[in-house]
Amino acid sequence: MSIGSDRSASNVSRIMDSFLERHHLLVEDAPWELRPSPLGGLGVFAKRDLHPGEVIFRDYPVIMGPRCLAESTDICVSCYRKQDIIPCNKKCGLSLCTNCQTSPDHKRECEFIRQRINVEITQELTHYLINSLAPLRSIFLSTQDKEVVLYLKAHKGHHHGFEVDLLMDKANCKMAQEEKEFLKFVCAVLDTNAFELVVRNGDDQTSLRGLYPLGSLANHRCFPNAFHVFDDKQRMVTRASVFIEKDEEIFHSYTKILWGTSSRLLHLKETKHFVCKCERCVDPTEFGTYMNAISCTRCKGNVLPILPQKNCDWRCEGCMKVVSVKEVGKTLTLIGSVMRSFRNCNFNVMYSFLKGKLSQMVPDSNQAVLELKCKIIWYLGYTPGFEWKDLPLETLVLKKRFCSDIIEILVKLKVGLCKIKGLLLYEIYLCTEEINKRKVNTVEKDEVDYLKEAIDILKFDASASKLITAGRSDLNGNGYGS
Ligand SMILES: [Zn+2]
Ligand SMILES: [Zn+2]
Ligand SMILES: [Zn+2]
Ligand SMILES: [Zn+2]
Repeated sequence: MSIGSDRSASNVSRIMDSFLERHHLLVEDAPWELRPSPLGGLGVFAKRDLHPGEVIFRDYPVIMGPRCLAESTDICVSCYRKQDIIPCNKKCGLSLCTNCQTSPDHKRECEFIRQRINVEITQELTHYLINSLAPLRSIFLSTQDKEVVLYLKAHKGHHHGFEVDLLMDKANCKMAQEEKEFLKFVCAVLDTNAFELVVRNGDDQTSLRGLYPLGSLANHRCFPNAFHVFDDKQRMVTRASVFIEKDEEIFHSYTKILWGTSSRLLHLKETKHFVCKCERCVDPTEFGTYMNAISCTRCKGNVLPILPQKNCDWRCEGCMKVVSVKEVGKTLTLIGSVMRSFRNCNFNVMYSFLKGKLSQMVPDSNQAVLELKCKIIWYLGYTPGFEWKDLPLETLVLKKRFCSDIIEILVKLKVGLCKIKGLLLYEIYLCTEEINKRKVNTVEKDEVDYLKEAIDILKFDASASKLITAGRSDLNGNGYGS
């Protein structure tokens, strides 16, 4: 194994182009190119002006596998369905659906596992196998695809690759030194670069991790100018979320857009090992959204970190009172624990916390408020007793307003098109439709406009296909075509 050494833009571009070509995704006159980034290393840049919604590139998952989640032992390791799952008939310890028992992709890994592991397969061992399945699959890559992986960034540190150690330890799995080194490197590449995606089969969904070589070359910014979705073949489709000028760098976000600076910085530090210094991160108000702020106990003003990147004191913008990190931490821990308790909570409990206690502790745009509004949005209309037909008019109006509140924040954050916006627009459409059903004479206009916008944002997204198919037929009914 030799880790890619010539990381010049021209060499990595050549490797990427041939990778995309092998997977039928190379387009003539692509609107992107690799160049050295001011952030260090390479970045993806616009070769010409790009309009919101335009596809910038499509990328193929060079490695794909289940995520390390507790519940993921009951999935088909080939098509990731959760129904009709039975243990592999060759007894490798993994499970497959009835259709995939003879899948050629599984055959290779199945043989490998059975050759290398000579201990009794237990539930625990199955768990280790699933955890290491994504890296193990790198062994079966073509030489050229292996080269692509060797050119990706990998974090250093001993904890990367623990999956391989566990497998060797617990399953007494024999591996040559070079093979082991390669696998550990792949684990580090996956930890650094893998994207999470959700595969939907009917009503169930499975969370996977996929390594997208070109996608992982695009750098992070907390107000991205691009967004990505995954199509039904699990390919990444990256599109411009705002107007991108020629020569601008293309950024996506590795964190949730609706997280405040403290949460984002913590997540980036823990998973990606870097401190983001983008404009949103250095602005304590986060473009005037105050997503990270808590309320001053003295004057109700906004209390913000004095230096968001540092673990320093906070200060009230109104009365200038200084609040220690410890005090702020107490408030945030309290909010966090209440929020976690809402996993199976009902609307009334969540709503009274939102309007009561929470509104006293933080401003209306705080991350926790947005999170709770999202919870309520996807509770109303989708929970027994709170289905669309059960919702009183004022609850429908409330849900619609919560959606608009969040969209307003997204606008302030300058993120343009993104998946969450698409989903919220779709909910607004459904609310409007339901409201119109109840009204005899007056009709709220423009519901179809919300739907059109939602579909436009979500159109390549396989996990949203149900919405889109539902929406499409509605649109056809209205004579708009698809
Ligand atoms: Zn299957
Ligand atoms: Zn098998
Ligand atoms: Zn940032
Ligand atoms: Zn104050």
